Amino acid sequence: MINCVSVLGSTGSIGRQSLDIISRMPVKVAALTAGNNVALMAQQCRAFQPKLAVMATREAAEALCDEIKDLPTSVCWGEEGLMQAATMDDAQCVITAVVGMLGLKPTLAAIRAGKRIGLANKETLVCAGELVMAEAEKYGAEIIPVDSEHSAIFQCLMGIGQKKEIHKLILTCSGGPFYGMDKEQLKHVTKADALKHPNWKMGAKITVDCATLMNKGLEVIEAMRLYRVPVEQVDVLIHRQSIVHSMVETVDGAVMAQLGTPDMRLPIQLALTYPERTACPVDRLDLTAAAALTFTKPDMDAFPCLALARQCAKAGGTACPVMNGANEEAVAMFLNDEIGFYDIFELVSGAVNAVPFIQNPTLEEILEADRLAREFVRSR
Ligand code: NDP
Ligand code: MG
Repeated sequence: MINCVSVLGSTGSIGRQSLDIISRMPVKVAALTAGNNVALMAQQCRAFQPKLAVMATREAAEALCDEIKDLPTSVCWGEEGLMQAATMDDAQCVITAVVGMLGLKPTLAAIRAGKRIGLANKETLVCAGELVMAEAEKYGAEIIPVDSEHSAIFQCLMGIGQKKEIHKLILTCSGGPFYGMDKEQLKHVTKADALKHPNWKMGAKITVDCATLMNKGLEVIEAMRLYRVPVEQVDVLIHRQSIVHSMVETVDGAVMAQLGTPDMRLPIQLALTYPERTACPVDRLDLTAAAALTFTKPDMDAFPCLALARQCAKAGGTACPVMNGANEEAVAMFLNDEIGFYDIFELVSGAVNAVPFIQNPTLEEILEADRLAREFVRSR
């Protein structure tokens, strides 16, 4: 079992749940990182005594220094700090729970340092999945998915011998807060409506992605990269109850599913204990109390982001980083009340068409594609 961890993005939804799990285990913390939430980071430093704490800016780092003068924790800031946190000698595992493309460089650094990655930051695999997986193989770094669907597939695959035996990966999707609405109704939804997810409490960006179904599009790409299958082998089914976390269908027609209480602490714990399993930290699933389990096809017409993501997945190259960068920027604008709900799709598909396509991009070309996509969205 892992005995020392660093958590990138410790003040966020996944970060806080990771620390909750860590607090129940004999696991030390090497480094914690956050954006600007100094008050929570100071509390976390007191509780977990990391060697290093990293904030996004110098101002936030200075404010944190003032708060934790009496602790032995070193404080630094910015990208350099994130890289340091990702590669601390003591840590065997790095949980990547920062949001967005920001996670790419520290994840690569942690992989090159041979760490186990508890991967929550899906944008990393969407933008540079081929590169990340190749580096993980080269440096022998394990990538254990924290995203609930991918953790479910990981668990289903434990019982399947060979990749050629996989017929389909089936990702389940709650459908988000706007399930059942048509295009016309979706034109009138607000930010407050989008931020009300029926089953999960998450950070704002991923909650909006769940409302547009872009989150499921990102997860299709994440699954392709993690399990090295083409997009045609990844299906999505709407499953409103979020009890079946995903499934694998084998060539002989057997379907393996992983079910559980919808609580992110379960996949987080497994990322730390794998290949062992330890006691359940949350209420166990009571199937007799669960509602009937239903499965339907997603409405690709009302939620065009999912279809767009599948197209980008098929195109490969810079299509995925462009889509992701444009989406990050458009969601930030939506959260800032600058654009409406459907503008997110319009801007992202506009960027995918406008930014020049490169088939086999280097890391630099991926970063440039991301930059151009964001510039396109901001210029509209
Ligand atoms: P949150 O928004 O809740 O947390 C994001 C974290 O990143 C916070 O610690 C935040 O710090 C930090 N951060 C934000 N901006 C910066 C910056 N510029 N520099 C350094 N750190 C920064 O996100 P979530 O926890 O919801 O999601 C994290 C990742 O996990 C995402 O990639 C998401 O897709 C994925 N994921 C999340 C799930 C969930 O249930 N939440 C489920 C599956 C995947 P601060 O608090 O100071 O702003
Ligand atoms: Mg998920």
